[in-house]
Amino acid sequence: MTQTFDTIIVGAGMVGAALATGLGQQGIRVALIDQASPAPYQPDSHPDIRVSALSAGSERYLASLGAWPRILAMRATPYCRLAVWDETPNPLKRLVPRSLTEVEFDANSLGAPHLGHIVENSITQLALWQTAETETDVTLITGHSVRDLVQSTEYATVTLDDGSQLQAQLVVGADGAMSRVRELAGIGVTRDQYEQQALVISVRYRGNVEDITWQGFYPSGPRAFLPLHSAGEQHPGESWASLVWYDHPARLDELKAMGEQQLMAEIQQHFPERLPELTHIDARASFPIARQHAKHYYQNRVVLAGDAAHTINPLAGQGVNLGFQDAQCLQGVLKEARRGGEDLASAHWLKLYEHRRRPANQRMMLTMDLFYHLFSNAIPPVHLARNLGLGAARVLPFARNRVARYAMGLDEQLPAPIQQIVNRLPGLGGL
Ligand SMILES: Cc1cc2nc3c(=O)[nH]c(=O)nc-3n(C[C@H](O)[C@H](O)[C@H](O)COP(=O)(O)OP(=O)(O)OC[C@H]3O[C@@H](n4cnc5c(N)ncnc54)[C@H](O)[C@@H]3O)c2cc1C
Repeated sequence: MTQTFDTIIVGAGMVGAALATGLGQQGIRVALIDQASPAPYQPDSHPDIRVSALSAGSERYLASLGAWPRILAMRATPYCRLAVWDETPNPLKRLVPRSLTEVEFDANSLGAPHLGHIVENSITQLALWQTAETETDVTLITGHSVRDLVQSTEYATVTLDDGSQLQAQLVVGADGAMSRVRELAGIGVTRDQYEQQALVISVRYRGNVEDITWQGFYPSGPRAFLPLHSAGEQHPGESWASLVWYDHPARLDELKAMGEQQLMAEIQQHFPERLPELTHIDARASFPIARQHAKHYYQNRVVLAGDAAHTINPLAGQGVNLGFQDAQCLQGVLKEARRGGEDLASAHWLKLYEHRRRPANQRMMLTMDLFYHLFSNAIPPVHLARNLGLGAARVLPFARNRVARYAMGLDEQLPAPIQQIVNRLPGLGGL
């Protein structure tokens, strides 16, 4: 028998589960499907290898859904300071003022309790599954993937891998970068694979939980430190952290093949000096990095959100923050459609969603590249400023500061002059 819903969301990752909760709260009947099942929370478990820096905006959204207190009751690490700086060996470096090479933001000076939180992806997802499950209008179907999708003038019908069928006015593809829904709907993507990949390493270090997240930019890519929770009574005086080492795939292969002691020494030698003393390496995994954008955000009765619609360079940790903004926006337009008694797949509303989200996501994608080039290059500042169309080197600290604030999710808009530069630099290939 075919089950009928208002909306089917394929992918109960962080974005799909957030959207399902929000739609359920609006009285929209949702089927939320995921091929995986959640692992239960264990307070003394080692951290998930995948963590995300969640911005204050994401925190507000998750709080409005009721998921934030659940996250805090499990594990989340606030950071009050955020620093980025240039580690490029440059013969002129000692002559260049520190303001040209380093930017630090402090929650105190912004009058905020913190700048954001580092949260393990599995914890954000679990909290959202729990909130989704409390909504009577949300039906969570786990352990099944989508096999087929057929669209008619009235419904879209989804067939799962066990042959069962579901139908709804609208199907949301929130099934990640390799989205099957996107493929079944025939929506293409533009994709640029970066030369670098990211190696994420879960470590323990000696010391209390740090309140700062930082990254130093090297010509081969940034190296970042994200603080996590205390290692507890089992390892007194130690804390967990997530390190990210961006580099060429061959170099990362070398690092992945090393034994624990050798890798620890390599990190200690090649990371910025302010890295605390490491005591243990728990896990490591590399991720390819691509800038990918769906050619359309909707097609007939299918709409995309989160990584299914766009992936960006993770260097400033904005991927899921953008995905949450998609979810919030889609929730808003579907509320309007429902209020007007319209079909949830009405092109008018889906077009409005794409109109609101595509330029914002595109702007952040381009800003990532600008951000990278502003901090990581072997070019002297005057030359770099000229190439970026900044006119004079003295505006470079201003540009770095504002681009970093926006890229890290502290500002919602880029200032107009910098926005114009982003608009003029489609690929930043000229640097
Ligand atoms: C190294 C690295 C560091 C990052 N750091 C940050 C950060 O600090 N901050 C940040 O905001 N972002 C960060 N990101 C990006 C962030 O991880 C992604 O943007 C985010 O996970 C996307 O969430 P999503 O829900 O859209 O997709 P996903 O997390 O990919 O979830 C998709 C879900 O769909 C399910 N699924 C897939 N196919 C099917 C199918 N056929 N049928 C049923 N279910 C299916 C999967 O099981 C999964 O649960 C980082 C990414 C990387 C690689």
